Amino acid sequence: MTKNNNAPLDTLKRPLFDLRISITDRCNFRCTYCMPSDIFPTDYGFLPKTTILSYEEIIKIATNFVELGVRKVRVTGGEPLLRKDVVQLVEGLNKIENLREIGLTTNGVLLPKYAKQLKNAGLKRVNVSLDAINNDVFTKMNGNKGTVTDVLKGIDAALDAGLGVKINMVVRKGWNEQEIVPMAKYFKEKSNITLRFIEFMDVGASNGWRLDDVIPSKEILNELQKFSQLEPVNPDYYGEVAKRYKYLDSDSEIGFITSVTETFCSSCTRIRISADGKIYTCLFASEGHDIKSIVRNGATNDDIKDYIIDVWNKREDRYSDVRHINTFPEKRKKIEMSYIGG
Ligand code: SAM
Ligand code: SF4
Ligand code: SF4
Repeated sequence: MTKNNNAPLDTLKRPLFDLRISITDRCNFRCTYCMPSDIFPTDYGFLPKTTILSYEEIIKIATNFVELGVRKVRVTGGEPLLRKDVVQLVEGLNKIENLREIGLTTNGVLLPKYAKQLKNAGLKRVNVSLDAINNDVFTKMNGNKGTVTDVLKGIDAALDAGLGVKINMVVRKGWNEQEIVPMAKYFKEKSNITLRFIEFMDVGASNGWRLDDVIPSKEILNELQKFSQLEPVNPDYYGEVAKRYKYLDSDSEIGFITSVTETFCSSCTRIRISADGKIYTCLFASEGHDIKSIVRNGATNDDIKDYIIDVWNKREDRYSDVRHINTFPEKRKKIEMSYIGG
């Protein structure tokens, strides 16, 4: 677990290691906790094309981040596989010197079309979101836009292509808690896939979040211990978000993203770029920093790096820590997850 290199540090001495790039704010799903269909109808005012960063611009910005010490890039959205020629973007990112890892987060339904091409382009792993193994529960949760079979086909396509696969399951009380054990049992049989339980978060202003709707990861762990013994696994690297556990009677692992009940702001090394080119130093930041204008106004690579360093050096964000202490959400303007990228 090293906290190596000369990456820029923020005001709390956290290094800048990870970059998440949202390449579209559009999605073919309408998950109730992210883009509820009454707030995001099909004619919703999504970002116009001209405001969205081109792939060339994304690669230029990402290259500067990597030169500053970022080692991991995750492509996300909205649904990233909806954006045209996404394979070309991955190819471009893969050419960046010293970038160790490229990942992508997807709802999985377009993986049968793209998994092989993405792997050939240099993608290493995908995180696929799946909130239930029961189709009725799943379709209710995603706004009736996709089936469990669609996602399982996507997962198979990713595995066949040689991609690493992790599953993200957001657990929301009253919606899918009955699926915790069935999901765990289903994926325990697949030792090459790690299932991660994500606590329902108060991102954005659309999902009607209440603390009461969060099922603490500890409760989930207790529930799972009833059918199989689990032991904690040490983190692989500084700032690893998921708390991992291994089944004693199989090689399978599970993980917990305890964003609400056991916050991890003190080791948060992530920065995000929205599809329209603003950088956000926290999932809960109210304002972004307009790196697109800097790039479009002809900034040199050194100017871009200076801008990033300046933004990161001033970073004070620790929203989840503060929420945890106060146990109620702070009243502030918040950015939607589909825009900023999960
Ligand atoms: N569309 C892709 C997908 O669903 O995987 C990528 C974008 S999505 C915003 C990224 C991740 O954020 C998904 O795993 C999703 O489940 C998670 N997410 C969205 N809203 C959330 C919320 N309110 N609380 C916790 N996780 C959330
Ligand atoms: Fe779309 Fe992903 Fe949000 Fe679901 S979680 S609505 S799939 S962006
Ligand atoms: Fe990082 Fe902000 Fe989440 Fe804390 S609340 S872990 S600072 S993104």
